[in-house]
Amino acid sequence: MKYNSTTDKSIVVSASQAIAQGISGDGGLFVPQEIPQYSLSDIEKLASIDYVGRARKILADYLDDFTAEEIDECVTKAYTAEKFGSDNPAPLSYQKYGDIDMNILELWHGPTSAFKDMALQILPHLLTKSLKKTSPDKEAVILVATSGDTGKAALEGFKDVDGTRIMVFYPVDGVSPMQKRQMTTQLGNNVNVCAIRGNFDDAQTGVKKIFTDKNLIEKLEAKNFIFSSANSINWGRLLPQIVYYFSAYAELVNDGKIKLGDKINVVVPTGNFGNILASYYAFRMGLPINKFICASNSNNVLTDFIKTGTYDKNRSFYATISPSMDILVSSNLERFLYHMTDANDSKVKEWMTKLKTDGVYSVDADVKDKITSIFVGGYCDEDKTKATIDEFFNKYGYICDTHTAVAVSVYKDYVGQTGDKTVTVIDSTASPYKFSGSVLSAVSGGQKLPEDEFEMVEMLNRLTNAPVPAPLAVLKNMKARFDNVCDADEMPKFVLSALGVE
Ligand SMILES: *Cc1c(COP(=O)(O)O)cnc(C)c1O
Repeated sequence: MKYNSTTDKSIVVSASQAIAQGISGDGGLFVPQEIPQYSLSDIEKLASIDYVGRARKILADYLDDFTAEEIDECVTKAYTAEKFGSDNPAPLSYQKYGDIDMNILELWHGPTSAFKDMALQILPHLLTKSLKKTSPDKEAVILVATSGDTGKAALEGFKDVDGTRIMVFYPVDGVSPMQKRQMTTQLGNNVNVCAIRGNFDDAQTGVKKIFTDKNLIEKLEAKNFIFSSANSINWGRLLPQIVYYFSAYAELVNDGKIKLGDKINVVVPTGNFGNILASYYAFRMGLPINKFICASNSNNVLTDFIKTGTYDKNRSFYATISPSMDILVSSNLERFLYHMTDANDSKVKEWMTKLKTDGVYSVDADVKDKITSIFVGGYCDEDKTKATIDEFFNKYGYICDTHTAVAVSVYKDYVGQTGDKTVTVIDSTASPYKFSGSVLSAVSGGQKLPEDEFEMVEMLNRLTNAPVPAPLAVLKNMKARFDNVCDADEMPKFVLSALGVE
């Protein structure tokens, strides 16, 4: 199986090259040339094995230059019960919100309490193996732009992994106190963390610029360093996310909620469009999906895009209580457009160029119609997010985080508008304790809240009885190691000095 660049099909690379490089040299993203096809009996087989087995099968079908032993090592090291609390790292929780069934796919049982662990616990294994094949003896420099959760999950995944260095950039005022604490206290000898004066898009643009800065790349190559990415633009991030959609479907069949072959809907709280795109790949592989419901917060650029076919990032940016979705340039949409135009690389290039120069582009009418035949967009503002957390917990007994609440609210609206009774999986992307302040203020009925983050954690625990994830609890007594802050245009300098290169 080969991979192409979204903006130049004549660029063809192997799976390990795609993962090692992260992004194509022309600035495009790598996409698989073919998509493996699963029959219902293949899906039935997946239902009879565990999560690691499901991951082993799906990854092997995409990574054909990995041996079976290599794949096995990656999946068994990543998805351990020790790291994810049980043999199923992506369990379903069957809840009710009034008369609406909420099949909540809890993707946050990993070491950093957000769904990014599903991919970032395995990516370092995929990446180091890919690098051995493509650039032996080089040291990989992983650069990450984060709106909060990716940064910590990447730091945790890569810490002390031989042959790698990792640097994380986050918007100085754009992450929750818990997220900041998780990153600044990170242990490991190959890690670095820096805050950017700007928002997530500034950090992401800065990282993308470094990846295509020929001068900088040459300087580092002379010292045996090679850049790579752990952002969801890396195929090695996206691929592991396909697994939990098959897994959730398998669990629904096993639990008698659906029959094999029945269609389901998926609802995904969306930022960079990675998670929902993984569900689209699952669909293209043969997973019976009816509707993809793309849920946004007040930064509703995707809601408008799905409605109108025009992507317009020229709008106000809101720092919300669901910061991991505070994104105006959803990078993975580029891959989706490539598939939606039947691999029309020149169209994708034209639109992505317009996005860079004008901040806006419009897809053709036929592409728009194709999208709206399967995708629904909706959004939820701050007050509604809080009201949803409050009602879901205080009336119906389930406590969810702010990102999950956006998905729940958008789904509730969707059912109200359409009456669609299709069994639906709602992605839950973070533990409520990662956003204790916002969650508490939603459910505590106006009580005065403590200022200290960990007192809030304790108060939320007293109110809800939901267990506090152990990795969050230990942060209370850890010391911050990193206090770097810089402007976005100083990022290259930071990278060079962190690596000791002049
Ligand atoms: C990253 C993240 C999202 C958005 O996922 P995308 O793949 O970027 O669309 C949603 N919720 C949480 C908690 C996240 O960390």
